[in-house]
Amino acid sequence: MAVEVYPLLARGVFATFGYFVIDGETGRGVLVDPGAQPGLFLSAARERDWKIDAILLTHGHFDHMGAAGELRDAWSAPVRAHELADRYLLDPRLNLSADHGTPITLAGASKLSDGDRIPVGGIAGALEVLHVPGHTDDSCAFWCEQEASRSSETPSTRAARPDRVPDRGWTQAAREHTQKHSRVAS
Ligand SMILES: [Zn+2]
Repeated sequence: MAVEVYPLLARGVFATFGYFVIDGETGRGVLVDPGAQPGLFLSAARERDWKIDAILLTHGHFDHMGAAGELRDAWSAPVRAHELADRYLLDPRLNLSADHGTPITLAGASKLSDGDRIPVGGIAGALEVLHVPGHTDDSCAFWCEQEASRSSETPSTRAARPDRVPDRGWTQAAREHTQKHSRVAS
């Protein structure tokens, strides 16, 4: 069984990658950070016959969760985010959507904690939740040991903070977004 990662660029106010993380054997998996263009993610999953079991959020800013509500309804898949995420998900000012045209809120996310393990299709515990506060209080990274082990750039350490995040084995969304929004969130 192999975890496969498929980035997909959604273009909303910002262009932000979402990541399908799929069990290549079963075609089941999760989607990380659908920020906009829900139809884009729906089409991609339909074309490849993927079954999405959960929507994961690296943090609650609108360009990472803007399409999550619509996709949750379409797939009957829960949204999962860090236990501090509601602060952002329920407040258009804090999730920055109020400043960019359309206020967005997302209620009902189930809570993740540092160290939680998330299955990908039939692969139990494929992703490990790492709480990496900094960009936002609720920022998480999703560590995939199997993906990292396939890379020639295998990390020498098991990083726990963004400044030590290796190039593979992560969704990378937290790091990219920290760079993109540093001026907004600082
Ligand atoms: Zn952000």
